[in-house]
Amino acid sequence: MSFDKLGLSPELLKAVAKQGYTTPTPIQEQAIPHVLSGSDMLASAQTGTGKTASFTLPILHILSKNEIKGRRQPRALILTPTRELAAQVSNNLRSYAQFTKLRSTVIFGGVNQNPQVRALQQGQDIVIATPGRLLDLYNQRHLSLKSISMFVLDEADRMLDMGFLGDIKKIISLMPPQRQNLMFSATFSGEIKKLTKDILNQPVTVDVSPPNSTVESISQMGYRVDKSKKRDLLLKLINDQNWNQALVFCRTKHGANNLSERIEKEGITSVAIHGNKSQGARTKALADFKRNKVRILVATDIAARGLDIPLLPHVVNFDLPNISEDYVHRIGRTGRAGADGVAISFVSPDENNYLRGIERLIDFTLPLEEIEGFYTPRKPSKKAIARGEGKSGSKSTGSGKKPSRSGYKGKASSTTTSETNSKARKPKKRWY
Ligand code: AMP
Repeated sequence: MSFDKLGLSPELLKAVAKQGYTTPTPIQEQAIPHVLSGSDMLASAQTGTGKTASFTLPILHILSKNEIKGRRQPRALILTPTRELAAQVSNNLRSYAQFTKLRSTVIFGGVNQNPQVRALQQGQDIVIATPGRLLDLYNQRHLSLKSISMFVLDEADRMLDMGFLGDIKKIISLMPPQRQNLMFSATFSGEIKKLTKDILNQPVTVDVSPPNSTVESISQMGYRVDKSKKRDLLLKLINDQNWNQALVFCRTKHGANNLSERIEKEGITSVAIHGNKSQGARTKALADFKRNKVRILVATDIAARGLDIPLLPHVVNFDLPNISEDYVHRIGRTGRAGADGVAISFVSPDENNYLRGIERLIDFTLPLEEIEGFYTPRKPSKKAIARGEGKSGSKSTGSGKKPSRSGYKGKASSTTTSETNSKARKPKKRWY
């Protein structure tokens, strides 16, 4: 299918062509006609599948058709959980809107509010925002939400995780009840499903992928490693495999700082990005990483959503996430827009439960490897022996489950190796 079959205006088709997009992605193909027809929508789409354009393009189409004379009030509101994602959605939207007369602005905390206030005073059609600063500016009477006719919750499940529910309910109460609502997420927890019932009005459901599955162009594998050896293992992989660019996830801000400093000491450029850094430092870190001025970006989960770094080849879970859904989002930072990527997870003995949770969620057994000198196998428990695991001499470090997805041919165990790519799972690509 080509873009001009979707019913979008010539101005939008021109912008899409300028981006170099030739065919719509599955989420775009399915979602755009529904949004254009005015339906509420619950869309489950993986990160990196082009979901931003699947809601911004029809919003731009609908708003351009009904141009407002006089002072502009925001007519569409897009909420995102992180500042980085808000900035990214805003950049995408601006490039799609470049041949229309619509105006948009982005609002998030951690930076001086004055430029945002000035932009609102000029009148905007579309506002992209994180909830806290939006309410802050609302309470200072810098914007009205009375004209909102289209509302988007991006990364909706994350909005709940991050404790935004109160703010979202408040924001919803400030908008007219008659409006079109769109909800997007890569993962849908039970809680979010309940919330959708309160917000959405007879929604169409669009699901371009099995829920909670991971992007198929990402090769996934892991290493069994002692907790105390994780740093050395990371440095070994960076050096042996000559990584140009990697995004490394840690569980804590402190851990991210320490790891980044250690990497720098080895003469490898690295910077940490997390919630304790100023917005200026976060933006600079990301920009330096994107420009290849920094090789290793060490991040907490604040960076797990929304970062679109073209052709990011490696994502490392230095610590496994304790929330399984975060695994899907973290590894979505690679393999984006059809590029191949490798997601590597370090699994120390205390993280076995997290591993099991992740494997259950993605319905896939992570192939695990050991590198000599980095892992001390524990004595198997009586229970494990009873299950037939941990027999002496075995290098198998898989979680013990058979991979349940068809098509997976990777080995669940192996010996010393540094050939991550060749052994990791590599199913075929989908829409590109
Ligand atoms: P998203 O999932 O919205 O973050 O998009 C991921 C990446 O895919 C971004 O870099 C987009 O610019 C790119 N993209 C979106 N739609 C298309 C398309 N139809 N063809 C090629 N690339 C696309």
